[in-house]
Amino acid sequence: MAKAKIAVITTGGTIAMRDEGRGGVPALGPDELLAHLPPDLQEATQLQVEAFSNLPSSHFTVANLWQLRKAVQDRLERLAVRGAVITHGTDTLEETAYLLDLTVPGERPVVMTGAMYRADEPGYEGFRNLADAVRVALDPEARGRGTMIVMNGEIHAARYAMKVKSHGPDAFASPGCGPMGRIVDGKVHWHWRVEREVLSVRELEPDVHLIKAAVGMPDTLLRLLVQQRPRGIVIEGFGGGRVPPGWMSAIREAVQQGTAVVVASRCPIGYTGDEYGYAGACRDLEATGAVLAAGLSGVKARIKLMVALGKR
Ligand code: ASP
Repeated sequence: MAKAKIAVITTGGTIAMRDEGRGGVPALGPDELLAHLPPDLQEATQLQVEAFSNLPSSHFTVANLWQLRKAVQDRLERLAVRGAVITHGTDTLEETAYLLDLTVPGERPVVMTGAMYRADEPGYEGFRNLADAVRVALDPEARGRGTMIVMNGEIHAARYAMKVKSHGPDAFASPGCGPMGRIVDGKVHWHWRVEREVLSVRELEPDVHLIKAAVGMPDTLLRLLVQQRPRGIVIEGFGGGRVPPGWMSAIREAVQQGTAVVVASRCPIGYTGDEYGYAGACRDLEATGAVLAAGLSGVKARIKLMVALGKR
């Protein structure tokens, strides 16, 4: 039987880290990562392996994100693979995953994974997560589901996935909707199907910033930012997307000077919109020209704004 081709792209993260005497640092290359793939997967697949980088995900730049997006789209188109598997640090995994989900067209799945323990620590779960990710990429039912994050036996849709815990193998969740599927004893089970949005993109606009509202917080930071005349600002607001009333004049100024302002909810299970008539609530924000982020988290609203502004 012909082997299924899968593109594997490694980018770094704890899944590829070991303590080399001064704390965990990138150490494992793609060959070491893939050496432990179970025999049934080695039999069934032909892996097209490529080391994109070996970075902690907190070191990723917007340029790195853009190059990775291009590499993924190119490999899916050029290599006639069934899908792509990407290893990545968990810290910013949800942002990269959402960018790929939003901008890599087509039916072939992109499956991302990582690990929360280093390769030299007891409990290292990288080999298992990687094997699960390859299983998901091979599964016929994965087609059309966009980009997914596979960790701890769960499949999370990029649109909803969030790193909700700083430590431990169960760091990822899809708040409000739960995992899209699970991998149990090497079998992939699906629970629901995601409605995917795909945008065309020419480049990513890097000059997009994220700030979070907190009770009674003066508008100092927001004003300093607006004075820089950035292309875009995302605000993580209270509840359904509200800000302190004292922020409204800076928001108005931003919109008037041509800075796009997007307001998301700072709640992990959040959707913007309300019925309030007071200053700084949704109606006031929209009347000022700010845009509400609907159900996107602040970091994902920023990714979408970078895509939208990059199109011009
Ligand atoms: N330091 C890691 C990173 O690159 C964290 C991880 O991968 O779990 O994001």
